Amino acid sequence: MPTAAKLKLALAGIGKIAIDQHLPSIAETGLFELAGVVSQRGIAVPGIPTFRDQRELFAAIPDLAAVANCTPPHVRHGYAVEALEAGKHLLIEKPPTASIAELADMMSAASKAKRSLFATWHSRYNTAVEQAAAILRTRAIAAVTVTWKEDVRRWHPGQDWVFEPGGFGVFDPGINALSIVTAIMPYPVFVETAELHFPGNRATPIAVDLSLRGPAGSGLASIACAFDWRQQGEQTWTIEVRLADGGSLTLTYGGTRLSVDGVATVSEPDSEYRRIYRRFHALVASGQSDVDASPLQLVADAFMMGRRHEVAPFAW
Ligand code: NAP
Repeated sequence: MPTAAKLKLALAGIGKIAIDQHLPSIAETGLFELAGVVSQRGIAVPGIPTFRDQRELFAAIPDLAAVANCTPPHVRHGYAVEALEAGKHLLIEKPPTASIAELADMMSAASKAKRSLFATWHSRYNTAVEQAAAILRTRAIAAVTVTWKEDVRRWHPGQDWVFEPGGFGVFDPGINALSIVTAIMPYPVFVETAELHFPGNRATPIAVDLSLRGPAGSGLASIACAFDWRQQGEQTWTIEVRLADGGSLTLTYGGTRLSVDGVATVSEPDSEYRRIYRRFHALVASGQSDVDASPLQLVADAFMMGRRHEVAPFAW
């Protein structure tokens, strides 16, 4: 049987995540042909043509099928609508956009263009997360504690955009925790309170204490989230679920490991981005989109309902 031609794909925004994860995942999954990169700074990938903007790319490669966008969220909407209107399928990094209205507009552009839009939440692409969700559909939840504490200097070295409006601050990693929470909870959750800690010299929070609640009658006491970018030493990305039957469920290492009632059940090497590219290929093949705005909505609600505190200025 002849093998189907690979779909031509371009990568836009050649920063940390494009290099660390997207380039190797595109190569290893073998489902797309990397036909070009778009880099405003002119970053080159060996053997692949570089374009300064998408219009140049689309003109040079008319049979390009798809774009994967790895820019920061505050510029993504412009890139995304341009790609969709040019008839390209689109994969976007998280957080999908800097605002709820931009995401709605992006979804409408995809629908109008009849192209697939895939708003990825990479932390969800773990067996441990899927198993946790399955267990929580059958066992009632008493309370949840989320601890997401990392060193911004280590994970976002020199990325000033994270502290600019639309850059999300500590919600940039915190939204990964929220993407897991919204995937594993068997019902919707809502912002109850948000304490937002802003460095005096920055526009986005460096730490957030967030309390979420479930619907009335859910029996959930609270979901207490602590997000902090000032963590030195050990880095922690943990979600602990206390169950109503006295048991527990713990996701560690960003959702890659699961313990149930104190027994380790899943521990996998990182394969999130390979799974994301397989899912994107399947979405394009079936003419579907996959966009879940719920983690972004919680962040927006936290900004809307939160209380602001000023903390020490931040310098790299
Ligand atoms: P980054 O290293 O700053 O890369 C973003 C790239 O986007 C830049 O290098 C730049 O590449 C391009 N860009 C276009 N317009 C820009 C603008 N106005 N300001 C800054 N850059 C602009 O950021 P990143 O860490 O790769 O993050 C990109 C996205 O991936 C974010 O949404 C982030 O949340 C997500 N993400 C990051 C990680 C991580 O570990 N860092 C993990 C998962 C997801 P060109 O010059 O080549 O155009």
